[in-house]
Amino acid sequence: MMFVVLGDGKPVKMMVAGVHGREAATTESYLWHALEMDLDEGLLVLATITKGSKYISTLNPRYLKLKAGKKLVSLIKKFKPQIYLELHSYSASNYWRLVDPLRKIRKGVPPLIDIGDGVLIGAVSPYIRRLFSLEDFCFVVETPKGQRDNERTIEFIELVLSCRDRFEITRKLREKFPQQIKIAEEYYEEYLRELSHKTLRNSWGRNLLD
Ligand SMILES: [Zn+2]
Repeated sequence: MMFVVLGDGKPVKMMVAGVHGREAATTESYLWHALEMDLDEGLLVLATITKGSKYISTLNPRYLKLKAGKKLVSLIKKFKPQIYLELHSYSASNYWRLVDPLRKIRKGVPPLIDIGDGVLIGAVSPYIRRLFSLEDFCFVVETPKGQRDNERTIEFIELVLSCRDRFEITRKLREKFPQQIKIAEEYYEEYLRELSHKTLRNSWGRNLLD
């Protein structure tokens, strides 16, 4: 199980693998790739959450009751990252469910976006996104199951982790994936707006994002 903390200061960047089920078999290798990257400043936290656990989707609130879910939440609370990447893997048979244009209605999160080579990026579960501030950059990266060295995944991770803040990330992503990021921005602005309203309403005026 990898747990590495490198560098110091701000921004704090965190990337987690093995979020649930047996995904670590695919995703942990990207933590090792990140160790070889030339990342500028700040603190970098790389962590495998679980090597094997029950599979419960992070979109299900029961995930937070699992040992894995509790560990993930405590790491986020401890390090308070401004840049957060959550690595996942998916089976080919789930592809259409993940990019489904109606995913927002069905699952409460926008569809993931295909950036090529089967790599999908998108929003973090609202239960996890709530632990961050609106200004933080939080993304999920889904790699096809079993692909431990997917070049597109490595490229995306390196782009994100080498930036100082979400403005720099967005600018670089727009240059690299203009069409996909245009769609992503439309989805996520709406998602974040709704999430912040919902959070405020549900907590009787206490802002959980603070
Ligand atoms: Zn997953």
